[in-house]
Amino acid sequence: MIVVMSRRADEDKINAVLERLKKAGFQIHLSRGVERTIIGAIGDKTRMGDLALEAMPGVENVVPILQPYKLASRAFKEQDTVVKVGDLEIGGKQIHVMAGPCAVESREQLLESAEMVKAAGATLLRGGAFKPRTSPYSFQGLEEKGLQYLAEAREKTGLKIVTEVMDAGTLPLVAEYADILQIGTRNMQNFFLLREVAKVDKPVLLKRGASATIEEWLMAAEYIMAGGNYNVILCERGIRTYETFTRNTLDLSAVPVVKHLSHLPVIVDPSHAIGKWRFVPPMAVAAVAAGADGLLIEVHPNPSEALCDGPQSLTPENFQSLMKDVRAVAEAIGRRL
Ligand code: PEP
Ligand code: MN
Repeated sequence: MIVVMSRRADEDKINAVLERLKKAGFQIHLSRGVERTIIGAIGDKTRMGDLALEAMPGVENVVPILQPYKLASRAFKEQDTVVKVGDLEIGGKQIHVMAGPCAVESREQLLESAEMVKAAGATLLRGGAFKPRTSPYSFQGLEEKGLQYLAEAREKTGLKIVTEVMDAGTLPLVAEYADILQIGTRNMQNFFLLREVAKVDKPVLLKRGASATIEEWLMAAEYIMAGGNYNVILCERGIRTYETFTRNTLDLSAVPVVKHLSHLPVIVDPSHAIGKWRFVPPMAVAAVAAGADGLLIEVHPNPSEALCDGPQSLTPENFQSLMKDVRAVAEAIGRRL
């Protein structure tokens, strides 16, 4: 349930409500808006009536949250969440582009990619050091060496780093280097891992599971938030359908739907959704038009030589051209790149 405090409620009144809820065993999450404070309380619904919260001074309203996800819901927090990554704000007016190769392959490949995506206007560098490959015989990533190259690229360019964490065992290592922890599509419902990233003080980029409904995706976000980490960025990356021409099917309607249901920022990854570089730019533009707060785009200095996901990776020239089109659309809808 959420307890909406009146605009005039002072700290003492808020604390009295918090105390009563805590005593009754509710888990508390505070949302302090500009206008008013909202208390999210999660626990045994049947006890709600006994608490007589409506009768307490300073309480304006007590409303149950009907969705199974609570902290991630719009009902809990009306204003859009803006996730801060250093001085970057994801979910604000600016569209952020996270770009780079699928995998960190070598120091040269990564530094070249970083310089190139930065020059084109990206604000974050992506690149996997631990890769979840379908085949155990495919390149699995450079692991810690890859993380070190990412850190060096950040040092050189000022770009923030987003990289995937695959398990709880390597989480401390990845968290040491990453600015944003990426949870990949295959791990979206790895609830144990979600509980672990919830304890880390780093934003989490939560990719939608390839077969996940929007509700399941928001429940995964709920795991991270319930564990105390509110800095969750959702990423639509395509879902599995009967269509085989594209790698997945980009569910663009998820963008306005999730923005309606949740206050969390949403970004779109057309690269993994489509799997063919040619179709990435138009869908990147469409994603921004649909209200996405950012994009995740795979770019490689030489896609034909890439060790991972070459067919969906853009050349530097194609990436520059995508950025030009994205900028135009962003400005047309009152945002900026
Ligand atoms: C990736 O971004 O490198 C990746 C593996 O994506 P996904 O988890 O969406 O397949
Ligand atoms: Mn990839």
